[in-house]
Amino acid sequence: MSARILVVDDIPANVKLLEARLMAEYFDVLCAHSGEESLEILDNNMVDIVLLDVMMPGMDGFEVCRRIKANPQTMHIPVVMVTALDQVSDRVDGLRAGADDFLTKPVNDMALISRVKSLVRIKMMTDELRSRASTTEQMGLEDGSFLEQIQHREGGRILLVDDMRSSAERIGKQVRGTFELFVESDSQAVLRRCADEDFDCALINLNMNTFDPLRLCAQMRSLESSRMLPILALADESEQARIMRALDLGVNDYIRQPVDRNELTARIQTQVLRKRYTDALRNSIQHTMEMAITDGLTKLYNRRYMTTHLNSLLASAKENDKPLSLLLMDIDFFKSVNDTHGHDAGDEVLQEFSHRLRKNTRGIDLVCRYGGEEFVVIMPDTDHSLATVVAERIRKKVAEKPFIIHKGRNMIDVTVSIGLAASMNGTESPDRLLKRADEALYRAKKDGRNRVVTATEHAA
Ligand code: GH3
Ligand code: MG
Ligand code: MG
Repeated sequence: MSARILVVDDIPANVKLLEARLMAEYFDVLCAHSGEESLEILDNNMVDIVLLDVMMPGMDGFEVCRRIKANPQTMHIPVVMVTALDQVSDRVDGLRAGADDFLTKPVNDMALISRVKSLVRIKMMTDELRSRASTTEQMGLEDGSFLEQIQHREGGRILLVDDMRSSAERIGKQVRGTFELFVESDSQAVLRRCADEDFDCALINLNMNTFDPLRLCAQMRSLESSRMLPILALADESEQARIMRALDLGVNDYIRQPVDRNELTARIQTQVLRKRYTDALRNSIQHTMEMAITDGLTKLYNRRYMTTHLNSLLASAKENDKPLSLLLMDIDFFKSVNDTHGHDAGDEVLQEFSHRLRKNTRGIDLVCRYGGEEFVVIMPDTDHSLATVVAERIRKKVAEKPFIIHKGRNMIDVTVSIGLAASMNGTESPDRLLKRADEALYRAKKDGRNRVVTATEHAA
């Protein structure tokens, strides 16, 4: 796992020291000796993480951090503040400026490498999600505004894991009001709740009597339901080794006890934000994929998906020597529905038609909107006579009950014409099958509409 780290410090010796340590771990290192220089480097280079000195003449580290986080091009790059003293006020100012993490000078080797590694892991995942989201945005499928929407949301659901009531209460007092807090003292119960409920961050005390919290962290990281849940560990000053282990196991961050209220709140906030950010990206990707294969008005599969899938369904019919049937249907005199009752009424008819279609087909049948008022149903493992029964049923279900339009104020009669083409064993090409169904549909229209016509058999 390599990454490019930008080291920013006004004292050359400090830069050299961090550079040497990072290079020993095979990281690619860029150096800047002032805030201004660091921003210039960020403008012209891809950087994965910034290690930022707080005290610098000219633009100080807080200001640099604020600018990195305010720029849409760089706001996703994790920033680690390097503070001279273990000053709580510095940490809080840093978090307010948007810093993702801290290191104190002199920088401890293990802390440096494990923090950097854990940030690189998160950065790589977020980069991947961002790049997918940007592709779909370029395709005109998303507008990207969801990013801003989540940045201004407050609060969050926090699961505190602690088996000592006194310390749980102490922590509770500090975060209640800002976050919704849930307390759990048993590790199995934690895993169960993570599967059943939605939390934004888990706060785990590394000091427990009844079970090993590190084991719980490991379990949470291996289970699907809690893999993405940010974990913030609470540890005593003396527990350096346990903190290291926790970070190695995938714990996102830690805070030392006794905790400072502002720091705790800010660190939780950072984790909650990161969680929402990745959740939103994931949802948007899923939504985009759905949009790419479904029709917006009827929620049925679209033509593109149907055409692609028909290929594989035919191939599988051929392989298993099974029949497959296809219905091509077209609503009768649909133009006059629009002309007489308006386009919105036409849309209502299309939606109700789709609903009836879905209700009268099986789950394994592929139902899709082929175009305007044309629909296709593909039925695997269905021969010609069974397909005729289904087609007749659909035709009847459409004709026998009027369609409600104008949100319930009016009703109209609708009928559909259906062309049926059956393939005995999938040896026919998709185009040929569709063509035969189309010819049958044409005859159904010509013969008076509201009827099912079966295509002539495929001449093998
Ligand atoms: P036929 O019985 O021969 O099929 O006649 P028809 O009027 O149904 O056929 P035609 O192809 O002439 O008209 C189809 C109409 O469907 C024209 C078009 O405006 C309308 N249409 C296509 N897509 C939509 C849609 O999404 N919503 C609405 N309301 N109308 C649509
Ligand atoms: Mg038509
Ligand atoms: Mg029509």
